[in-house]
Parts: sequence; structure tokens; C-alpha cells
Amino acid sequence: MNNANDTFPKGSVVLLGICSDENSSFMKGAAEAPDAIRAALHCGSANLTSELGIRLRDNPLFEDAGNFVPDSGAEGFMAIEQKVAQIAAHHGRPLILGGDHAITFPTIRALVKAFGPLNILHFDAHPDLYDELDGNRLSHGCPFARIMEQGLAKRLVQLGIRTLNAHQKEQVERFGVEIHPMKTFDVHTVRTQFDGPLYLSFDMDALDPAYAPGVSHLEPGGLSVRQVLSLVHRLDAKLVGADIVEYNPSRDIHQITAMVGAKLVKEIAGKMLSGADQTCPQK
Ligand code: MN
Ligand code: MN
Repeated sequence: MNNANDTFPKGSVVLLGICSDENSSFMKGAAEAPDAIRAALHCGSANLTSELGIRLRDNPLFEDAGNFVPDSGAEGFMAIEQKVAQIAAHHGRPLILGGDHAITFPTIRALVKAFGPLNILHFDAHPDLYDELDGNRLSHGCPFARIMEQGLAKRLVQLGIRTLNAHQKEQVERFGVEIHPMKTFDVHTVRTQFDGPLYLSFDMDALDPAYAPGVSHLEPGGLSVRQVLSLVHRLDAKLVGADIVEYNPSRDIHQITAMVGAKLVKEIAGKMLSGADQTCPQK
């Protein structure tokens, strides 16, 4: 998009980096993730065609809107909401690169104003349902509490969870969250069909640290990359937006996690562009 008045071709996927880690409770660094994931995506070691056959290179329906650096606090959240709303108003579907997970709350607020309450498919080691964390209600440990309080989700389905404590268990029951804990996870039994618009929120620590060591909160016993790709490919829903958050380049080893982030960009964007209502050039 060259200026604010331009409109994206219908169904476009718009990559947007949101460089914010001020609401990270344990370690900073996720604000540097968007450019590190882009560098991996364009590093030349792999092509830009998804496993579903969608080519992102020179694709008129795949746009990179660059990075956005919000101010701190509530003003920053308002600015994120406005930025995402602007993309939606111009017929783009945001694919957000965080940043920490706090940015999902203002992103969802913007999209709910455009589409109504959303189905949310949330991959994470953590349910992120704290009422507050260290006195911060906007913490990256809280976004889904804020989303549920405000009635922004039609359904919230969580995958990869392996850190549920007593308080968050109460929150799960209070908000009617549908959890597939890792303890009993079976990729084949997860229902991937959703009625109505779907938002996919992907916290990189949902993956086992063996696949994604570049995160602030290493939590062993997680998902494999292939399990995640299998679920993404199987989705039967209208994806209106997605995010990939919590990659922390300062913790990465040989860009392993950056390459996983880039793979997720390819496969999630490829999935978004593979719908029957999309016209997209194939390689
Ligand atoms: Mn999270
Ligand atoms: Mn997490």
C-alpha cells in the first residue's frame, strides 16, 4: 500500500511487523522479531512457495506493509488497533509479526469491529488468561482475559497448553475456553472446522524448544512443527487475520527459530490465500 487511500486487492494478506515487547514479563527481545523473520523468509535458502502450492514471491495478493513501532501503554494499544483497522478497512487481512503476545488484544479489537466476534485458534504453551501479571493488566500473560471480558471471541480454542495453574484454570471455566492440553494432545482429534470468521494467534513457545529455542519462555514438551503445519493445512474456516508472536532473536541458535517463523508465514499466508474464493497465481 503506497498511501492510506490505496485499497488492497480483495482477499490480500498484509504482513505487518509490530515492534513491541514492553509488556513482556520475563525478558525483552521480541520487538526485534519482525525483521529477523523477514530476513529468514528472504534469505535465499528456500523458495517462497507454500506446501499448498501458493507462491508468495511477486504475488499481488501478498503485501508487506513494513513495521509499526507503537508508543507505550494504552496509547500504544489504541495506535495498534487503528493500524490494524486501517488494513481491514482497505480489504487487507493482517498477518502480524510480533512483538510479544500483548499485541493480540488491540489487533483482535480492530478485527471484531470489522467482522464481529471471532473464532480464535490460539497456539501457546501458556493460556495467557491472567487477570493481571505483576500489576500489569496489559501484560503478555493477559491478552485472552481482556479479549474474553470484552466479548470479542465467539469461541477461544487453545492448543499446546502445558502451564495451567489454579488461577488460570478458574479463568478457563469463567470464560468457557476450549483447551486441548499437551498432556492429552492428539493432533488427529482436533476439530479444525469453524463457523464464521477465524483468527489464528501463534505464540512460538507453543512449539517444543527443540524446534523453536528462540523464545523468552522455554517450556519443554510442546508441539512439533509438523503437527502445527498439519493443523494449519487442515483448517476449514475463513481466516480474517493471524499473528506470529513471541519470537526472541536474542535467544535463537543458528536462526532455527527465525526459519520456523518464516515457514509459518509461508504456510499461514498460503492457507489464507488458498481459499476457493481467492484468485491467486500458482507456481
Ligand atoms: Mn502467549
Ligand atoms: Mn507462551
